[in-house]
Amino acid sequence: MQMNQNSENNLSADRRVLVIGGGVGGIRAALDLAESRRNVLLIDKSYAIGGLMTQLDRTFPTNNCDLCTVSPYLSQGGREKYLEIKPMTRLIRLDGEAGAFSATLTTQPRYIDTEKCTACGECAKQFPEAVRFTPGLDPRAPTCMRYPQATPFAFSIDMDRIGDIEALKKVCKADAILPDDTPKETVMDVSSVVLSVGADLFDPSVLDNFGGGRFDNVVTGLEYERIMSASGPFQGSLVRKSDGKRPKKVAWIQCVGSRGINRADVPYCSGVCCMYALKEAMVTKERFGEDIETTIFFMDMRTHGKDYEQYYNRARDEYHIRMVRSRPHTIMEQPDTKNLSIAYAVEDKSVQETEEFDMVVLSTGFRVTAETRDLAQNLGIDLNVHDFAETDHFNPVQTSRPGVYVCGVYESPKDIPETMVQASAAAAMAATNLPVSPAGLNGEEVFPPERDVADEDPRIGVFVCDCGFEIGGVLNVAALLDAVRNRPDVVVAEAWDTAALRNPWQKSKPLSPETT
Ligand SMILES: Cc1cc2nc3c(=O)[nH]c(=O)nc-3n(C[C@H](O)[C@H](O)[C@H](O)COP(=O)(O)OP(=O)(O)OC[C@H]3O[C@@H](n4cnc5c(N)ncnc54)[C@H](O)[C@@H]3O)c2cc1C
Ligand code: SF4
Ligand code: SF4
Repeated sequence: MQMNQNSENNLSADRRVLVIGGGVGGIRAALDLAESRRNVLLIDKSYAIGGLMTQLDRTFPTNNCDLCTVSPYLSQGGREKYLEIKPMTRLIRLDGEAGAFSATLTTQPRYIDTEKCTACGECAKQFPEAVRFTPGLDPRAPTCMRYPQATPFAFSIDMDRIGDIEALKKVCKADAILPDDTPKETVMDVSSVVLSVGADLFDPSVLDNFGGGRFDNVVTGLEYERIMSASGPFQGSLVRKSDGKRPKKVAWIQCVGSRGINRADVPYCSGVCCMYALKEAMVTKERFGEDIETTIFFMDMRTHGKDYEQYYNRARDEYHIRMVRSRPHTIMEQPDTKNLSIAYAVEDKSVQETEEFDMVVLSTGFRVTAETRDLAQNLGIDLNVHDFAETDHFNPVQTSRPGVYVCGVYESPKDIPETMVQASAAAAMAATNLPVSPAGLNGEEVFPPERDVADEDPRIGVFVCDCGFEIGGVLNVAALLDAVRNRPDVVVAEAWDTAALRNPWQKSKPLSPETT
C-alpha cells in the first residue's frame, strides 16, 4: 500500500522514516527527508555515522580531501529539527505495512552520556585498553575518535575491561560515564524504511598465493587510504610497515576477490576499485612525484562513470602511471628486504614475468555480510543471486516489500556520486508515505532575538584549515595569517586543525561582540 502525502491518515505525531545505515547514502537520504520536512530516524550499528567514506584519504573523480567533502553532511546544524541519529543501533523486526510499520530497534550501551561528553579524551588517556575505537592500522587509535570529526563526537567504553569503575568516573569531569547503561529496545512507528547498509570489503587473508595477510608490505586499498590520510596512523606519510621507510615502487593488483572463478572469488565486478586504484596512484604521484614508480596490474580498466575515461587517460598520460594488462597469480616476500615479487602472466606472451616492488596494494571489492543477510530476512525483502537487495527493474530503489527502499552499495556496488543520486531517489519514494511535519521532532523552533547591526563595525574572522597537505602543502599558513591579522576589521585569524574544524562555532566565539 503506497499512501499519498495528502491523503487522510491517522498517523501518530512522531511517526517517521527510518533510515538504516549512516554511510554517505543513508546521510544523504536522511538529509533530503529532513529538508522536505519529514521526521527521520537515522540508525547505524557503528559508534559514529559516516560509513566507509570517513576512512578515505581523497575522493575520485575530483581528488578532493575526503573529510572536507563529507564533513558538511555530518554536521547536524539546522537539520536537527527533523533528524534524530541513533548510533550503535540495529533493527531487529519490522511489522505492519507501508505507511504504518512498527520497527523494533535495539541500541547497544555506549556507557557514555553523549549529551554531557565533551570529547576531552581523558577517559581514553587513562583507560586506553577500555575505550573502544575502530582498530584498522591505527597505532594511535586508543586515544582517537573513529575519525576526527566523528558524529556523535564521543567515545564509547568497553565496561567489561574496566577494573575500577569509580576511578573511571572520577576521570570524567563532565560526569558523563554511565556504568549501569544497558541495551535498550525501542518500538517505533515508521512510515517507510530506507536501507543503506553498504557492504563489507573482501578479506584477502584467505588468499595464500598473495601472502594470506602475512606480508607486512602488502595492504588493501582501504589500508592504503588510511596510510595516506592526514588523520591516519602516519599522519599522511607513506611508509612501509616493515621498516618505516617510504617505498620507491608501489604496485596495485586489481580484481582481488572479484570477477573470478576460484574458491574465494565472486563473479561480479565491484565497480569502484579501478577508479580508487587510479586515484591512489595519482595521489601518490602528486605527493612524491618522480621519487615513486606506480604500476597497476589490471584485467580491464572499468572506468564507467561520467568523464571517468578521461581520469584514466590523465593517470596514464599525465601522471605516467604504468598500466600492465595481466593476471598476477603469486606474491612472494623477500626474507631479507621484505620486498615483494609479483609473478604475473600477460596476454600475448607464453612465459610468466616476475617483478619486484617495495609495497603492494590489493584492490579488494565489496561483499555482503552474514549480518546484512539476516537483516534482509528480518525486513522480509528478497535478495539477488549475489545477496544484494533485489529491486524492481523500473524502480531501482524499490525492494520486494512495499515501503522498504534501498540505496548505495547495498543495492549494488557503486561509487559516491551514484550512491548520492540513488539516496535522493529513495528519500523521494520514502517521503510519499509520510506527510510533511511543520513542527518537526522538537516542536516549533525558537530563534535568537534579532538586532540591528547596520551601525556596527564589521567583524571578520579568517580561519585557515591546516590539517593536511591540501592547504598547508602549497601555502605558508603562518605567513598568510600574519599578513591578514592586521587588516582592517579582522578580529581573529587562526589556523585550524581537524579537531577545531569539528566545532567551528565554539572556536569562533571571538567573532561575537559579546565575547570581546
Ligand atoms: C578503498 C575504497 C576507496 C574508495 N574511494 C572512492 C572515491 O574516491 N570516490 C567514490 O566516489 N567512491 C569511492 N569508494 C566507494 C565509496 O566508499 C562507496 O560508494 C560509499 O561509501 C557507499 O556508501 P554507502 O552509504 O552505500 O555505504 P557505507 O559507506 O559502507 O555505509 C554503510 C553504513 O551502514 C552501517 N551499517 C551496516 N550494517 C548495518 C546494520 N545492520 N544496521 C545499522 N547500520 C548498519 C555501517 O556502519 C555504515 O556506516 C571507495 C571504496 C573503497 C572500498
Ligand atoms: S572523560 Fe568524560 S567528557 Fe572526556 S571523553 Fe571521556 S566521557 Fe567524554
Ligand atoms: S572495478 Fe575494476 S578492479 Fe574492481 S572488480 Fe571491477 S574490474 Fe576489477
